[in-house]
Amino acid sequence: MSKKLTVADKRQDKCIACPYDPLHRLMPERFALHLIRCAKNHPGSKMVRCPFNNTHLFSSDTLQHHVESCPDRAYFVRYTTPDKLPLPGPSTGKFFVESAEDWDAEPPAPTYNPEDHCRESFVIRNPQGASPSARRQFREQERRRFIENNKF
Ligand SMILES: [Zn+2]
Ligand SMILES: [Zn+2]
Repeated sequence: MSKKLTVADKRQDKCIACPYDPLHRLMPERFALHLIRCAKNHPGSKMVRCPFNNTHLFSSDTLQHHVESCPDRAYFVRYTTPDKLPLPGPSTGKFFVESAEDWDAEPPAPTYNPEDHCRESFVIRNPQGASPSARRQFREQERRRFIENNKF
């Protein structure tokens, strides 16, 4: 049902058939507005909107097929999983650079290092798994470090 568009036949295909009435041929810019108006003339219609583009209307039994091949789905998937689908052509990466926020420019959040935190706040550390004598020695060492640091 949906045929592949090439640049050559793009002009002829510019007009879109109304899903409510195929005799309504519409320019893309008029299409969304027409759908709203035409829907009022077809209140019994079981048309369902495509989740990727709300101007895609289908009966519930053909929607499933459309969703699988919707041209807007590719953009959606590319947006949500940019790593899996590389952008075609030379515009690689442009999609995200256009965003007002440049995430790469954010300064990296300092990683929390419990060891550093410990040294800075002079908490007496209690090494796990060391022998009692080693632990005693360590505690003594820590106590001295603690006292020395508090002199100033
Ligand atoms: Zn219509
Ligand atoms: Zn669609």
